[in-house]
Amino acid sequence: MAKRKQKKTQIRTEFRKNYDQTTRKKDFRGQADETDDSTPDAQSERVSGKRSASKKRTITGVARENEAAGFAVELRDVDANCLSGRVMKVHGLSSTVRTADGREFECSTRGLLKSLATDLQNVVVTGDVVVIRPADDRQAVILLVEPRHGVICRTSRKRQQVLVANVDQVIIVASAAEPGLKPNLIDRYLVSVESTNLRPIICINKVDLVDPGELQSVVAVWGQMGYQVVLSSVTCHWNIDRLRDLLTGRNSVVSGQSGVGKSSLLNAIEPGLGLKVSPVSDESEKGRHTTTFSHLIPLSGGGYIVDTPGIRQFQLWDVIPAEVAGFFRDIRPYVSDCQFPDCTHTHEQNCAVKEAVAMFKLDVRRYESYCQIRSEE
Ligand code: GDP
Ligand code: ZN
Repeated sequence: MAKRKQKKTQIRTEFRKNYDQTTRKKDFRGQADETDDSTPDAQSERVSGKRSASKKRTITGVARENEAAGFAVELRDVDANCLSGRVMKVHGLSSTVRTADGREFECSTRGLLKSLATDLQNVVVTGDVVVIRPADDRQAVILLVEPRHGVICRTSRKRQQVLVANVDQVIIVASAAEPGLKPNLIDRYLVSVESTNLRPIICINKVDLVDPGELQSVVAVWGQMGYQVVLSSVTCHWNIDRLRDLLTGRNSVVSGQSGVGKSSLLNAIEPGLGLKVSPVSDESEKGRHTTTFSHLIPLSGGGYIVDTPGIRQFQLWDVIPAEVAGFFRDIRPYVSDCQFPDCTHTHEQNCAVKEAVAMFKLDVRRYESYCQIRSEE
């Protein structure tokens, strides 16, 4: 213990800091109620996220009666042989962890953490930063999980399941043609991403198939709201380097309809990746919606792409209708000026949002998008 290196002391400090959270017990109980092992049902599933450290999802909610003992074991077990790593994927009770130097270990989860798995479904999830103790150059044991940020969850039958942790940004990929651009669909994704607090980046691919001038007006509206919009073409290698720069050093989810070129873009950004590119829209991908086998793809320049079949195409994030206006960056400033506090901004009198549209202060297409999303909810 006395010989523990600097790095280990940091781990200990972080653990203790989090351990001291006064809300921990309440959070732990709440989490235990929300999760179980039942297979999620595709009809009722929703995806949501949180950027802030999700206290209730860190393993610091250690079984209450054992917490003093658990803490002692943590400290004793973390020694100079331990390494910090990232969970690349989870399969059953084991997971693949990659260390900073690029080595991969097949990891089991140590006893105390595993015992939590029955109460807390996701003790270790893809994207987690963990401390492992190698047994040899291939196998290791996960000792502890660092606090998470940028969590994307799926809610199914009122139960939440963490799909992936420590995400920084979501790349919303659309295509200018084949399939044609659907600005309303992008608005919908934006609402979802805004609700998670993750950083959205819009990528419109296949611009080689259209006159880029046609896209200018719609792109300008998003640009004015502060969204980063990248027009790309895999075929002509346009803006591939820019996208690579945006991905480097960050953990990104790539999301968007089937066929827009997500796999092609990733293959272009990271040569050698060899993701399957499908010429026709792959309907079977919808069938895989219930699977949650997310895995991380490391980028050579640093950072990871989160690949989850379910996340790639998800549209239903956990947004309630009354919140939608608040997630429209352009509509939000007008909301407080409406006469009725529960104004839906659709049919009410003295609605500041509708007035703003009439005065051309708000983009009509964006407003239509808002109304469409509201009507579908
Ligand atoms: P995903 O389903 O979003 O992963 O899309 P894929 O990467 O499988 O691509 C779907 C189809 O679009 C494939 O036939 C690609 O060759 C084609 N494609 C991808 N990017 C571009 C592009 O920039 N321009 C054109 N013209 N076709 C593209
Ligand atoms: Zn209103």
